[in-house]
This record gives sequence, structure tokens and C-alpha cells, in this order.
Amino acid sequence: MNTSHHVIVAGAGPVGLLLACELALAGCSVLTLEKAEDPHSPLKQLPFGIRGLSAPSIEVLHRRGLLDQMEVPKRLQNPFTGKRTRQAGHFAGIPFEFDNIDMSRWPTDLPLSLLSEMAELEAVLTRRALELGVEIRRGAGITGFEQDSDGVTVYAAGQSARAGWLVGCDGGRSVVRKQGGFEFAGTEPEFTGYSAKVDFLDADLLAPGRVVTERGMYFQSQPGYLNLQDFDDGAFHQTGAPVTREHLQAVLRRISGIEVTIAALHVATTWTDRARQATQYRNGRILLAGDAAHIHAPLGGQGLNLGIGDAMNLGWKLAATIHGEAPADLLDSYHAERHTIGAKVLDWSRAQVAVMRPTPEGRALNAIFRDLMNTRDGATYFAGRVWGVDELTG
Ligand SMILES: Cc1cc2nc3c(=O)[nH]c(=O)nc-3n(C[C@H](O)[C@H](O)[C@H](O)COP(=O)(O)OP(=O)(O)OC[C@H]3O[C@@H](n4cnc5c(N)ncnc54)[C@H](O)[C@@H]3O)c2cc1C
Repeated sequence: MNTSHHVIVAGAGPVGLLLACELALAGCSVLTLEKAEDPHSPLKQLPFGIRGLSAPSIEVLHRRGLLDQMEVPKRLQNPFTGKRTRQAGHFAGIPFEFDNIDMSRWPTDLPLSLLSEMAELEAVLTRRALELGVEIRRGAGITGFEQDSDGVTVYAAGQSARAGWLVGCDGGRSVVRKQGGFEFAGTEPEFTGYSAKVDFLDADLLAPGRVVTERGMYFQSQPGYLNLQDFDDGAFHQTGAPVTREHLQAVLRRISGIEVTIAALHVATTWTDRARQATQYRNGRILLAGDAAHIHAPLGGQGLNLGIGDAMNLGWKLAATIHGEAPADLLDSYHAERHTIGAKVLDWSRAQVAVMRPTPEGRALNAIFRDLMNTRDGATYFAGRVWGVDELTG
């Protein structure tokens, strides 16, 4: 079947959905092709699906009338009306406290940070996209495409579709990036990260909170919900092997130094701190946004926020270009502006890995950062960076 749209968006993750909404809001016809048949996944639901929203993302969702539609941020306390002694965030697993932060620097009526759930965010964005007339086809993973001077022909699940532009929002393993002639430059991983739901025989053997040991990090966010970082140069993740109960238990015992027993494993996924970024976000009529354009460790939670910023920057510029209302170089300013911010976020994640390294140097750095983050200036600096308030205040 051949169809013609202004834009085909690859991927109905949060970034693809928000971009589709922005384009449709600006009068563009949008077809979204999504590989997954079913949008639901336990990994998108709490607690695995928890995603910290920073100040610029909160402002975007508020401006588009979407923040009020989200229940999870209301349920998971507003840090600014909740207890002031709570941990405000972390850098490399080192907490910084609300009590230490000079909030007077950022006068705003909106919260500067909120907790959201991936499943709910996608559901809210999907609903808005459909209201705005975006066509979403699921079970339609893009397998290839060709661009010419007028547009792009895209092949997905035995169908082809035609549009003026193709935007790859198809995540870290983006087919659009890999087949679109984009260079993906950066650094290789130092660890495999694990997120898992398990039953312990003896959970109370593990210390509460985020524990950085001489061999890595473990964190039980709720009973049975486990996060690990194993400094194996990303070797396990790269094998693509499924996480078994025996493997996870062995890794946890090695990292924690505790003979804890995992009785059952319900769900598990792995990730790494590989940090790579497309050196160009545009190749002719093909563009990249979100994890398709940049990947890094999820430490401190910045990837989604970065992608939301990409979608907001690209949406109006691409729409204005399509409607013939933009100067010739407007679209290229998308790369210039967003690549710079992306590079900063990648470095933020690399710095955290350096401070978490289970080496004498890493431990020495960790102790210094811990001292700095306990000061008012230190906590305020880290809050400003993690919440993205730098971007609001310039
Ligand atoms: C454990 C963990 C915790 C995190 N915590 C935070 C946090 O607190 N804050 C934060 O800002 N970020 C966080 N992140 C990062 C954040 O989840 C990602 O940056 C964000 O999901 C990127 O959104 P996206 O839409 O670009 O990509 P994705 O969410 O990966 O969506 C891509 C979509 O494209 C689809 N797709 C893939 N291939 C194709 C294809 N060939 N054709 C069509 N569709 C395709 C996929 O099915 C998917 O639906 C975390 C990540 C992890 C792993």
C-alpha cells in the first residue's frame, strides 16, 4: 500500500509520539510506524518504568496541557510540596538533599523535577497524537528506505509508504540511523547494568538504598526490585544472553560480597553505559531524534528529557520548512543546537561512570564528590544540572 504524508516518524516511543503531536499541531500530516504490536511492557510500568522529568520537560508537558492528564507524578509526591528532607536526586549514586539546595535561584510556579511512568507518558501522548489526526501503525517495523530529491520511500512489514521526510525516533538501535548513513561516535561501555524483579529468600541481608561497593553498585528500590551495575566492560549485555536466576544471583553476590539467595526471577533486562551520538542529526530528508540520535547510561535519568527537547526543537522547524515558511538554514539549526546539548549530557553520564569506577582512583573521586555535594553550593549546582534548570535560566 502506498500513502503520502508530510512526515513519517519511525517509532512510537515518547520522543516519536511527542514529535508527531508537534508536527500535527502545526498542520502536518504524520504517519507513525511502530515496530511493537503491543505498547504494553512490564518494563514501562512502575517501578522499572519510572522516569524523572526535568524542568524543561515539565514545562513542555504543561504548555501542551498534558501534565494535568498524568496521574503518576501527582501520586509520586511533588518534591516541592512534599518533605523537604527528601533526597533530591543523585550523581553517580551519591545523593544530594533538598535541604542543601538554594531554591531561590529558580523562581517558577512549576515543579523543577517530577517522577513519571513511561507507560502513562506514552499512553497520554498516544491519545493526544490520535486526537490530532496522527496515523499510528503498530507491528510495522521499518526495514529499509530510500530518499530522493522529493521525499523518502519507507518499507515496513511488507508495506511501503511515501513522505517528504523521515524522522528516526526508533530508539538506541535505530534502523533509520544505521541505514541512513549516520556516523555514531563515542565511547564503549565499562559496565552491564541490570534491572530485575526477583523474590529473595533473605532480602534483609542487603543494605537499603544505593550501595556502591568495591566491585560495582546494587540498589533495591522496593523489596524485590533490583538494580545492579557490574563493571564487566559491558560484556554480558553484548552477548545478548537472557538473564537467568543463577547468573543474576552470582553477579549480585560478587558485587555485594553477601551470600544472598534469589529464589525466583520474574523479569530482567540489561543496559550499559555505552555513550554514542550521531555526528549529524540530519542527512538530507532524514533526521534523528531521541535515543536514535544519542545513547548513554541512564544514570541520573536524562535520556528522555534530552529526547523531549529534541522533539520540541525539531517539530516547529520541520513544520515551518514543510509549509515553505522557514529560511533555508532553519532546519540545520536543529542539529547545531541539539547536538551541543546532547554532547553535554553524554559527558555528564561519563563523569558519573568515572566516579563510580570500583578502582582506587574512582573511590578517591567518589569521596571528593560526596563532600562537595554536601555543601550548599555543591547541592545547588548538581540540582541545577540534573533538573535542567540551567537551560531555563541560561
Ligand atoms: C533503566 C532506565 C532508566 C531510565 N530512566 C530515565 C529517567 O529517569 N529520565 C530520563 O530522562 N530518561 C531515562 N531513561 C532513558 C529513557 O527511557 C530513554 O532515553 C527514552 O525512552 C528514549 O525515548 P525514545 O522515544 O527516543 O526511544 P524509545 O523509548 O526506545 O522508543 C523507540 C520506539 O521505536 C520503536 N522501534 C524500534 N525499532 C523500530 C523500527 N525499526 N521501526 C519502527 N519502530 C521501531 C520501539 O519499539 C520503541 O517503541 C532511562 C532508561 C533506562 C533503560
